[in-house]
Amino acid sequence: MHDKTIAQLSAGLAAGTFSSEELTRALLARIERFDPQLNAFITVTAERALAQARAADARRARGEAGPLTGVPIAHKDIFCTDGVRTSCGSRILDRFIAPYNATVVEKLDAAGAVMLGKTNMDEFAMGSSNETSFYGPVRNPWQLDAVPGGSSGGSAAAVAARLAPGATGTDTGGSIRQPAALCGITGIKPTYGRVSRWGMIAYASSLDQGGPMARSAEDCALLLQAMAGFDPRDSTSVDRPVPDYRAALTQPLAGLKIGLPQEYFGEGLDSAVAAVVEDALTEYRRLGAETVAISLPNSRLAIPAYYVIAPAECSSNLARFDGVRYGHRCENPRDLLDLYTRSRAEGFGAEVQRRILVGTFALSAGYYDAYYLKAQQIRRLISDDFRRAFAEVDVIMGPTSPTVAFKLGEKVNDPITMYLSDIYTIAVNLAGLPGLSLPAGFADGLAVGLQLIGDYFAEERLLNVAHQYQQLTDWHQRAPAAFA
Ligand code: GLN
Repeated sequence: MHDKTIAQLSAGLAAGTFSSEELTRALLARIERFDPQLNAFITVTAERALAQARAADARRARGEAGPLTGVPIAHKDIFCTDGVRTSCGSRILDRFIAPYNATVVEKLDAAGAVMLGKTNMDEFAMGSSNETSFYGPVRNPWQLDAVPGGSSGGSAAAVAARLAPGATGTDTGGSIRQPAALCGITGIKPTYGRVSRWGMIAYASSLDQGGPMARSAEDCALLLQAMAGFDPRDSTSVDRPVPDYRAALTQPLAGLKIGLPQEYFGEGLDSAVAAVVEDALTEYRRLGAETVAISLPNSRLAIPAYYVIAPAECSSNLARFDGVRYGHRCENPRDLLDLYTRSRAEGFGAEVQRRILVGTFALSAGYYDAYYLKAQQIRRLISDDFRRAFAEVDVIMGPTSPTVAFKLGEKVNDPITMYLSDIYTIAVNLAGLPGLSLPAGFADGLAVGLQLIGDYFAEERLLNVAHQYQQLTDWHQRAPAAFA
């Protein structure tokens, strides 16, 4: 059962081949057996999962099941889950039990999905390797001494290792796409505002967006269908109808215009990764698509702009973790200032502290114009680059990540090198566009992701373009040998 996609599980549940309870038990058993090697889960909610599974089976018996009813999934531990620890990968929230469900959790619950547990992640979603988690790193199921990518590394590893057929993730600068690429699965970051951020712990609010991670584009379509939609509780949620993502999958690709940004194929791109991407493009030409060279001239400014904007926003968002209202509080504070400073020093890890410091500096009087304002101007230039490109092409393609998964420990003490892992993903968040990563092959036994970037609200098209490739290739069906 564990090797089936969500679409196949959904069909099996509908046909009565197995019950949700049987399926849930099988996956919980796999988690128990395999997760000690991977550390993909922070919390496993076995009892809750079985109760949800039984409720899903009863709902199905009443003839009220939808496509996700009884399908087990995992949630990134950044989404608040009522009555369940929601740690955000941080010591400061280690004992925080959320008092309500995030909209995404609520919607997937309403669709009948079963929550297996909460997945490991970089602390407050800051990182590209899952090594900043208070709960320790996650391992890549393809090679246990390699990182799974980050920050949604637990979700990516759980799906790749067949511990869950799908999971939620969040992407502020690449955190759905990059781990999807490094673990050989499919993930989509929707257009900013498509999926509600309510109850999703904020990192950089103008960039954060939740989305699905699964093995195939079809499965992502099924999950996104339940996750997307207007939410009056999120002021940046967009009130716009949600299309039928699955219905759009079968559209043929003849005449599709694919833009290839020259900046995404130059220096810094590993040659083995480039070769896999070239093969994928050949496959797309075979499907009737045409490729055109384009330029996104401000790409090189994306990382510097992001590393001003994201820390600035996080320094403000993380001010709420003060030892008074939420989470960790230091022992025997001398006075209020001591309570604040020691609680935060003990509760936050090094990378989070680094970003709070950078962000506070960038926002301070006298520096605001030089850093934050400048970064916002660059952000506009980057959006304009994409706007010009989408006047000419339907979709942009390139690598998701410049390299395959690197070794644990390799970059953790070198933040700048780590930040470069997101060189192809970050501009998409700055512009608020949708982006998808799908498995396109392997280099040295490690997965390579192909990135598709679409115009605003083109999730439908991206899923279609990914699905058509997955009809011709089987990269998304490959399982890491140790977890097959
Ligand atoms: N790696 C980037 C960062 O550390 C992006 C993380 C994310 O998308 N949440 O900020």
